[in-house]
Amino acid sequence: SFTAEVVPQAPEDALFGLMRAYRADENPDKVDLGIGAYRDDNAKPWVLPVVKKADSILFNNPELDHEYAPIAGIASFTSKAAELILGGPDSPAIREKRISSIQTISGTGAVHLGALFLSKFYPGTKKVYVSKPTWANHHQIFNNVGIPTVEYPYFSKETKGLDFENMKLSLLSAPDKSVILLHACAHNPTGVDPTIDQWKEIATIIRQKSHFPFFDTAYQGFASGDLMKDNAAIRYFVEEGFELVVAQSFAKNFGLYGERAGCFHIVTGPAPEAQSTITRIASQLAILQRSEISNPPLYGARIASTVLNDQALFSEWEENLRTMSGRIISMRKALRAKLEDLGTPGTWNHITDQIGMFSFTGLTEAQVLKIREDAHVYMTKNGRISMAGLNTKNVDYVAKAIDKVVR
Ligand code: PLP
Repeated sequence: SFTAEVVPQAPEDALFGLMRAYRADENPDKVDLGIGAYRDDNAKPWVLPVVKKADSILFNNPELDHEYAPIAGIASFTSKAAELILGGPDSPAIREKRISSIQTISGTGAVHLGALFLSKFYPGTKKVYVSKPTWANHHQIFNNVGIPTVEYPYFSKETKGLDFENMKLSLLSAPDKSVILLHACAHNPTGVDPTIDQWKEIATIIRQKSHFPFFDTAYQGFASGDLMKDNAAIRYFVEEGFELVVAQSFAKNFGLYGERAGCFHIVTGPAPEAQSTITRIASQLAILQRSEISNPPLYGARIASTVLNDQALFSEWEENLRTMSGRIISMRKALRAKLEDLGTPGTWNHITDQIGMFSFTGLTEAQVLKIREDAHVYMTKNGRISMAGLNTKNVDYVAKAIDKVVR
């Protein structure tokens, strides 16, 4: 039977455990800097106004039914998702029909489907190099399909920025044709992204070593507020003719967390046989999808599709993105300014240098536990804070709490 030797007790998911502890805390000053979901200035979830509009359009459409989606999902959604991540219909991969896109269970499902596809069909070295640190789920997802993860250096504890030299050395010493997982923008958990010149150097190494780029993009438009800035790395790789895959989430940039809208894309390099290669790949992805989920959920994809296919709604979405990213950027500035005003020991420029939902504060695990105990400020043990948990009402309180544990 399923004894403890056969099925040992697994640890609770760290992030969801943190959320539970926060909910149970009755202190009125408590602050949640754990979970990666956007909050408004009142610490409340924010339904994007454009999503509310799309909602009512869908609600009032008498034609909509609840039939199964096609195996590859809603085509009007996946085609626009591809344009979004590749920078528009003029992307060479789209013009030359070298891309196959399949709707997934949000970004997690996209990473999984990509991992599963590679586990079956990737002809190179079946090892995936992930940044140290990375979104913890990357390890689990790849390991589940039998692809071991290896870490490449990424975050410098000294500068709290990119450890670029060691990252490059590691990619250079990886076996040829390894899979390299890259966060397209707003790296989770560090908030540290390569510059475009550094991306070019990374691309050169990946080319030289015949590695395979696997992009994970969960924050397009949410990081800088500019959709084209946040997809610059992927656009560059595609323009350079790389064969690559992209796992795309719409959870954060549409605030559709629980609706599970996502997409997996595979782009082949320019070659005379590119289109037939893509057709073959699409046929295999469809079989994998069928055996896993049969077909993807409708609702979130319908919302995103409604917005992505309408120029006025699209502009409004861009405005909503600027609202979210703008608030986060202003909280970065406020937190840094407050810490510097307090004369908190250390340097705090990394708070504003880092980008996106998260910041790696540099707090140690002991400090993280102490700040939870003393000030009821909740963050993950690695010192990561979700910037979206800060607002004009609690940022001073959080700065003072950080100041106190650092001294
Ligand atoms: N990839 C990264 C780097 C993430 O941070 C996340 C969410 O936190 C995801 C993928 C996937 O999220 P979801 O499955 O909610 O789209």
